[in-house]
Amino acid sequence: MSCDLHRHTEFSRFDGFGKAHNLAKLAKELGYTALGVSDHGNTNGLVQMHDACQRVGIKPILGVEGYFLPVYKAQERGYHLCLFAKDLVGYRNLNALQFEGEKQKYYNPIWTFELLEKYHEGLICSTACIAGYSAQCIVNDKMPQARKYMQKLKDIFGDDLYVEVQPYVVSEAGVQEKVNIGMIELAEEFDIKCILTSDSHRGEKDEFDTYLKMHTMNNHDEAWVRGTYEERYMPPLMEMEKRFYKMHRGDYGDKQAKKMALEMQANMEELEAKVEQDILGQLKLQLPKIGELSDEDSWNEIVRQVKAGLKKRGQYTKEYIQRCKEELDVIKKNGFVDYFLIVADYVNWAKDRDICVGPGRGSVCNCLVAYAMYITEVDSIRFGLDFRRFMRYDKKAIPDIDLDFEMDRRGEVIDYVIGKYPGQSARVSSYGLYQVDNTINSLAKVCGLDTDKTVDDHEAKTNKDTIKEIKALVRKYKLEDGSIDDDALLNGADADQVRVWNKKYDNIITHFCKLFGKVQFIGTHSAGVVLTSGDILQYTSIRLDKEGNLYSTYNLEDLNDINIVKFDILGLKTMQSIGECRKLVGVKEFDINLVDDQKLLQAFREGNTCGIFQFEKATAKRIFDEIQCDCFEDVVATCAMNRPGPLGQGMPEQYAENKLGGAIDQDTSTYQYTKATYGTVVYQEQLLLICVFVGGLEWFEADLVLKANKHGFKERAVAILNKYAEDNGVDLHKKFVKNAVKNGMTKEQAEGTWNSLLVYSFNKGHAAGYCIISMEEMYYKIYYPQFFWYVKIKYARNDTEKVEFNNEAAKDGEVIFLPHVNYSKPHVSIRKVDGEEVLQQGLMDIKGIGEKAATAIRMEREKNGVFTSFDDFLDRCAGRVVHKGVVNLLSEQGALEFNKKMYIKRVTAYNTALYSRARR
Ligand SMILES: [Zn+2]
Ligand SMILES: [Zn+2]
Repeated sequence: MSCDLHRHTEFSRFDGFGKAHNLAKLAKELGYTALGVSDHGNTNGLVQMHDACQRVGIKPILGVEGYFLPVYKAQERGYHLCLFAKDLVGYRNLNALQFEGEKQKYYNPIWTFELLEKYHEGLICSTACIAGYSAQCIVNDKMPQARKYMQKLKDIFGDDLYVEVQPYVVSEAGVQEKVNIGMIELAEEFDIKCILTSDSHRGEKDEFDTYLKMHTMNNHDEAWVRGTYEERYMPPLMEMEKRFYKMHRGDYGDKQAKKMALEMQANMEELEAKVEQDILGQLKLQLPKIGELSDEDSWNEIVRQVKAGLKKRGQYTKEYIQRCKEELDVIKKNGFVDYFLIVADYVNWAKDRDICVGPGRGSVCNCLVAYAMYITEVDSIRFGLDFRRFMRYDKKAIPDIDLDFEMDRRGEVIDYVIGKYPGQSARVSSYGLYQVDNTINSLAKVCGLDTDKTVDDHEAKTNKDTIKEIKALVRKYKLEDGSIDDDALLNGADADQVRVWNKKYDNIITHFCKLFGKVQFIGTHSAGVVLTSGDILQYTSIRLDKEGNLYSTYNLEDLNDINIVKFDILGLKTMQSIGECRKLVGVKEFDINLVDDQKLLQAFREGNTCGIFQFEKATAKRIFDEIQCDCFEDVVATCAMNRPGPLGQGMPEQYAENKLGGAIDQDTSTYQYTKATYGTVVYQEQLLLICVFVGGLEWFEADLVLKANKHGFKERAVAILNKYAEDNGVDLHKKFVKNAVKNGMTKEQAEGTWNSLLVYSFNKGHAAGYCIISMEEMYYKIYYPQFFWYVKIKYARNDTEKVEFNNEAAKDGEVIFLPHVNYSKPHVSIRKVDGEEVLQQGLMDIKGIGEKAATAIRMEREKNGVFTSFDDFLDRCAGRVVHKGVVNLLSEQGALEFNKKMYIKRVTAYNTALYSRARR
């Protein structure tokens, strides 16, 4: 047995280097049977290290190099101390310790003796590096204090306490040697076993130059980094023993030093044996429960809600009840009853508070139960959405119920969920990576490409250009999965250019390759919330942000790996503008029957889709025209087909041809599944059903075909399925054709059908949900254009869009009034002129007028009445905020035109110009 225990990864940010899977691979290559992880003050990397070690077949030893204070004092950094989990109890205590420490953190969580006493079970403690408390006592000749400390640790951890001896020099000569001797002395005195540790901060020896760059990027002293870390790579087996012997043979004599080294190796083996192999694998999926409800209570509650919902919707009919019954059966069998109750609870909480919620997204739209519970607004019977795309007995994966909430208020929903399940819920971290821009920018500063400190402007400018060129070059080597093809970049067609830049700028591109994709910082995931059954610390450690919000230290993928259920509470800007339209029109929700409104469908057909969610692009307008859109199904199909795969394969043309008079073979066995799309396979749902019922594939095999299809391009799909055939000995293509022929198709038909399954298809449920949003927007556009355009202009993303929307509004016959001190608010508004609602541009629509000035003018007007003349305006408003520059701008733009006729004349001229521009 052999273990590299005290080890840092990329999660020791600015100080550690190396991804878990690379480190585990290297450890395996070097012959290690176990690999530790002990990042500075955090447990972010545990899941990845666990996974990486399991993959290569070595034992992960999960820990942290935390910060400890023998006597707690606020604003003190603490001394290093390492803890490692022996088993699941230890892992959970580690999480608890980190969370308790987080409450008194200073840069990092701070541990105290009290905390260690409370949570020591299942944990191995080792004394860490020269920055440990006892080591510092030794450095400062305070042995009595070191003794007291060691005694207390021994009392807490007993035989699970180990003294670390690090046979590596540090930048200050002789100090580590002194510490080692002192530590060995203490160990003997208190009968504690010593272990040799490398405290390594990177994997490969030759990564040091980049590691050094990373430090200097963060303003660390180069000489210190060199002195302390140059040797801290993952040591080959027995290297530490040799180092110890060399370092201390003078102190202990040849024979004794050798003996000690071997003893310490044996101690490490003992430690390794104490640790269980698969700790995180023991974290079983436990779906969260809602409150204290028993399974039976939950079941009764979901049935009650479904019935009540169907009644409320006026759809308590045999067909709907039967479908819900079938779905509930699957939901219950798969154990997702509480999951549905939880989602329904927060969605309806939001709706009760007038927080605008999207009609549904993703395959949950295929679920009638979700519709009955008011989780979605998509009636899956009406829109022909197959439940099996969402959930089946044989597909046990946790259902993804992702929903859109209005952007500005989804935080309230997240707060509600977290508040409702205290101790069981948290937000989610994200890992911010070194990407092209931030990496090159940071490296440039330390590789001789400075852009601000350089003395002359010319050089700064040249450097800026070079940085741009380097970025463009490396981007060329970005692969589909987001990684960089290092080998091609360094040795391919651009190798000469790379060499020139590397030589001139301190190997900048080589460093880039090594840094790219590593963790730079820990961020937050804006939509994710996780819920566990019982204490969340059983699964993950928690950190706090400045506001006291709780975050899992893991990101979504890692949480998924350890079986935690997440809920996505997404923000969608469109829901915000829809919410505002609803208020203006005076409705609470969209009348779903309007999806069949011919006036709306005509607008789609005519390509009148400027400002309409999902359909602003020219390709969408083209499809609407091509297929002569005249029903909601056509809108949904357009949404599905308006993507590179289907467009490239001529799917819309096929659809149009079939719809508008082409001869569709209604006798084939696929027709019943493709009737709604005139014989074309547009949707994933159709793909699955055809695979199973025409091609005789198993459901899981149909899922595989879908997975291949999702890649978007036929060649990719074929490659993936070929690989599956190779690996598993089942050729799905052949199986499909064989069965389809058996089911009555000719071989040609079967082959043709198979081919059509490989063209990218789309989730119909998702498309239907999103098209309801588009229909609702179109409804306001056609029936309440003044409100529609007001909201669109208000939420325009930028000036270009604002101008476009103004033009379109004029084209729609809206009268747009120019900014005026007597009529305008800071932003666009609606006001009545001669009984008609008109759009009044805001004062801030004048370039150069800021919020302060605009608000000051509005407040004065609302307080003391309209301005009667230029002088009146100056008397009442001119000052520090509404200064001369503002007055000039207002005047130039006609906002101070007090002759009403003249103002109207200007407005008319403006609208005429807009109208003709839009018509062109
Ligand atoms: Zn340390
Ligand atoms: Zn360390």
